[in-house]
Amino acid sequence: MSIYGDYIKSVIRTVPDWPQPGVNFRDITPLLQNSAAFRKLIDSFVHRYQEMEIDAIAAIDARGFIVGAPLAYELGCSFVPVRKKGKLPFRTISETYTLEYGEAEVELHSDAFREGDRILVVDDLIATGGTMLAAAKLITRSGGQVVETATIVDLPDLGGAQRIRDAGFSVFAVCS
Ligand code: AMP
Repeated sequence: MSIYGDYIKSVIRTVPDWPQPGVNFRDITPLLQNSAAFRKLIDSFVHRYQEMEIDAIAAIDARGFIVGAPLAYELGCSFVPVRKKGKLPFRTISETYTLEYGEAEVELHSDAFREGDRILVVDDLIATGGTMLAAAKLITRSGGQVVETATIVDLPDLGGAQRIRDAGFSVFAVCS
C-alpha cells in the first residue's frame, strides 16, 4: 500500500448493487474530479517505479488507460494498450480468461514492445484477478518481462492479488 493509500481510498466512492445486485462497484470518478487526489495517485506510482527502468506501461482497457498514460509520460517510457477483443486494428495476440459467467479476451498488438522489455501492467482494480493475470500472461507470452502488476484498488476478500502472486507475478496496490 502507498503512503497516500488511506487518502486515495477516501476519495473513491462505493456504489452498492451496480452494475448488478451484490456488486459493490468502486467508482474512481470522484478521485478523477479531485486534481490534488489524482496527482497524489500518479505520484504514488511514479515514486514506486521511477528507479525500476520500466520500458513500457501496458494499461488495461479502459480505466487502466487513465492511470497508464500519465504514468508513461512521467516515467518517460512507452504506453501500450491492452484492449478488449476486437478493438486493436493491427496484428494481435490474445489471451482468453474465465469470468463468473462465460469468457473474456484481452488483446495486444504483436509489435507492442521488444523481446525482453521491462513491462509494468496497470489497471484500476483487482477483483478476482482474472483480467490482470490474463494481461500479465499475454505480455509474458509476447516476450515481455512483467516487472509488476499495479492497481489503484485491490479487493483482498476476492483473492485476486493472491492468485496473481501464485502465478509468479508481483502485485502493488495503492489501497485495498
Ligand atoms: P477481475 O478480472 O475480476 O479482477 O476484475 C477486474 C476488472 O473489472 C477491472 O478492469 C475493473 O475495472 C473491473 N471491476 C471488477 N470488479 C469491480 C468493482 N467492484 N468495482 C470497479 N471495477 C470492477
